[in-house]
Amino acid sequence: RSPQGSALYLDGVSVSFDGFRALNNLSLVVDHGELRAVIGPNGAGKTTMMDVMTGKTRPDTGKVLLDGRIDLTRLDEARIATLGIGRKFQKPSVFETHTVIDNLELALAGDRTPFSALKFRRTPDKAARIEAVLEDIALAHRAHEPAGRLSHGQKQWLEIGMLLMQQPRVLLVDEPAAGMTDSETSQTAVLLKRLAQSHAVIVVEHDMGFVRDLDCRVTVLHEGSVLAEGSLDHVQSDSRVVDVYLGR
Ligand code: ADP
Repeated sequence: RSPQGSALYLDGVSVSFDGFRALNNLSLVVDHGELRAVIGPNGAGKTTMMDVMTGKTRPDTGKVLLDGRIDLTRLDEARIATLGIGRKFQKPSVFETHTVIDNLELALAGDRTPFSALKFRRTPDKAARIEAVLEDIALAHRAHEPAGRLSHGQKQWLEIGMLLMQQPRVLLVDEPAAGMTDSETSQTAVLLKRLAQSHAVIVVEHDMGFVRDLDCRVTVLHEGSVLAEGSLDHVQSDSRVVDVYLGR
């Protein structure tokens, strides 16, 4: 399909490390307002895919477009971040001795690029933005507590909140449910679904129960390209996907 209307568009992306093809002609389209789960066995290329989307790794060939038109292929990581791609790594790294609200504020202060300063002038009401993010991540009631007192799951939400302070257009989230309790896991699915109403959200995940909760289109990566795509039931009934997961 054409890149028009997409949030993130990867076309024929390949990346090799010392002759080994981590991504092999990968094409993927994620729309605005879409939640997408990306699954695949270890070594399938999921991390490399996110590295390419954020500019950490440059593709050898192929194209990466934001908003269907901004070519990210040759831009560096800092520039891509200011254009609106936010990435949450697996391990939360919040400032434990600072309050929840201070963490959100620090997420803004840490970014001193002229571009974000411009965006900032357009939304002068910082307090209102913090309040909105606190609601989004369901931590309004813990706003004035040190982040170190939050549960593991709540720290993950706070970190998502820190990303939201930067007003990204695309959110990349790496295994958000890892280490969470069942109740935190289902709340995280609700949170990500809500965020996907106003962002493109791409979730890399191993936990199939969580992927089912996300109730979204699923892309299966294998050997650096897309093996199958569709609903979770659809991809799970694909014999090639079954073979890959069973190592056949
Ligand atoms: P996944 O996240 O799906 O487990 P990765 O993207 O981490 O997969 O890795 C895909 C393949 O590329 C793996 O075989 C991995 O060993 C290899 N790879 C990833 N990064 C590098 C690197 N910097 N140097 C060499 N090989 C790498």
